[in-house]
Amino acid sequence: MNSSANGALEEKIGRPSESELTFAELDLPAHLVQAVSALGFTSPSPIQARAIPVLLSGRDLIGVAQTGTGKTAAFGLPLLANINPNDRATQALVLAPTRELALQVAGALETFASEMPNVRVTALYGGAPYMPQEKALSRGSQVVVGTPGRVIDHLKRGNLRLEDLSYMVLDEADEMLRMGFAEDVDEILSFSPSQKQVALFSATMPPAIQRVAAEHMTNPESIAVARQSTTVESVTQEYAVVPFRHKVGALSRVLATSDTDAAIVFVRTRAAAEEVGAALVERGIIAATISGDVAQKDRERIVARLRDGSLDVLVATDVAARGLDVERIGLVVNFDVPGEPEAYVHRIGRTGRAGRTGRALTFLTPHERGKLRAIERTTRQKLVEVEIPSPADVSRMKTRNLLRSIPARIEKGRLGMYRELVSELLADGADPTELAAALCAIAVGDNGPQPRDAEEEFTGASLKGDDRGGRGNDRGGNDRERRRNVRPSSKGFTTYKVSVGHSHGAKPPAIVGAITGEAGLHGKDIGKIDIFGNFSLVEIQGELSPAAIEKISKARIGGRMLRIAKDTGPKPRTEPKKDFSRRRKNDRY
Ligand code: ADP
Ligand code: MG
Repeated sequence: MNSSANGALEEKIGRPSESELTFAELDLPAHLVQAVSALGFTSPSPIQARAIPVLLSGRDLIGVAQTGTGKTAAFGLPLLANINPNDRATQALVLAPTRELALQVAGALETFASEMPNVRVTALYGGAPYMPQEKALSRGSQVVVGTPGRVIDHLKRGNLRLEDLSYMVLDEADEMLRMGFAEDVDEILSFSPSQKQVALFSATMPPAIQRVAAEHMTNPESIAVARQSTTVESVTQEYAVVPFRHKVGALSRVLATSDTDAAIVFVRTRAAAEEVGAALVERGIIAATISGDVAQKDRERIVARLRDGSLDVLVATDVAARGLDVERIGLVVNFDVPGEPEAYVHRIGRTGRAGRTGRALTFLTPHERGKLRAIERTTRQKLVEVEIPSPADVSRMKTRNLLRSIPARIEKGRLGMYRELVSELLADGADPTELAAALCAIAVGDNGPQPRDAEEEFTGASLKGDDRGGRGNDRGGNDRERRRNVRPSSKGFTTYKVSVGHSHGAKPPAIVGAITGEAGLHGKDIGKIDIFGNFSLVEIQGELSPAAIEKISKARIGGRMLRIAKDTGPKPRTEPKKDFSRRRKNDRY
């Protein structure tokens, strides 16, 4: 109980019950106790200690507990204890709101069932072909975990039969209802025998859930574990007052000066997610966006990249980030203050995972200060006001890192040519401190005083909860007309033209993703992106190799090939005939 490893786990899932209960004392079969102790679970979490006996007794249950409190084992262990392994029929069904959560739960159940060789667990979810799922079901699967939509599809196709169902779980019920699955859940319940045990787990208890409970459950026992949990305690909670139009600038400086491995930025709307993601990418931050809109396959790829370290910043809406469990996340930024205090708890629960500490920073516009109180009441913790780093802070931090890397670079050698060039300057009477200072400024991208600072450029006008307008969202208009205003390439960048534009649904993150993905470039290699009706202009650091051009050209956005080529400027209104063939060759758009 007192080892530090257990301490970390306890911190994560809540204190063990006072009696220091063991899983064996909960009357679970020995093989399940063994399976969880192999996972390092020494003592049941509070929700487990209270829910397992109720579920083992056969009663219906409503469990309210926030994410990370151990709900999967709370319903999963009694579920497996009740399975008859010698009967191939589907006996237990768990519904979960998203494919990722369904896969997580199915994976956990499989682990708990490691000593039950004849028990099969099948996950059913959308965005994947039916065939493999159908095959798995036809072999007989005692336990099915699925998202409501796909479960209904299989029921209707006759692949899944629930005549012998005896145990049903609605996991993350509030989220399922919020995602519009209420009717599907009702329909699935209507396919199943009325004689069955139902367990419902939820982080919150909106009236819609009480309706589901009243309709489908028999005299359920209600269990709620205290909202206050150590997940929240392991997160440092801060806020900053940031005027709306400075939010993006503030965010990029917070990210640039943060020493965390990875961060999640929460925004309220899908449109804001797109815009903020694009704005970060434009500023050289490796960021991706997920909203309810993103296809499951893309979502999984993004989460995998976040996990393996090839992605550092995820911009997400609440729904999209539900259940996300990535240890690298050390920082959560609430770019928009969450609508309900509960959502705040969920958001900051994305950090401080697995016994690590995390930091949560909430942006409040000056007139949103009042929302602070509600959040503090919910978490029963004071948020500390912090200052947003200034552009100078960012440059200072980058320079410190740069200077710190000098000894290692000297160690590597091959500096002769540079030494010679610098010596020439010094011989001409240059001041070494001045020289080094200018080199630092150039290296960290500080170009000296500018007439317009980058932050002002982003007015945030299009972030005011409205889908239209703004950079990269600038629909319509005559492409040729608009191109007259295009500025020349930024220093060190080459402007390329790709054959996807607004009319193909191209958005900056998709373009950046396709180019970086195919050519092995980094987000910072991509400069400004201008999206027109039928094409887009993209700045790329240096020049692309012919091989990279070929690869990128084959990538697709919205089903259309990217076909990238160096931009040759707007076409003249009337093209001289003799030039036509040559033009066609170089400019195929
Ligand atoms: P929830 O569904 O409430 O969000 P999970 O069931 O996903 O929570 O569990 C959160 C984490 O806690 C998982 O990594 C799980 O393995 C771990 N966990 C669950 N129960 C225990 C326990 N009794 N002891 C130690 N770790 C546990
Ligand atoms: Mg869960």
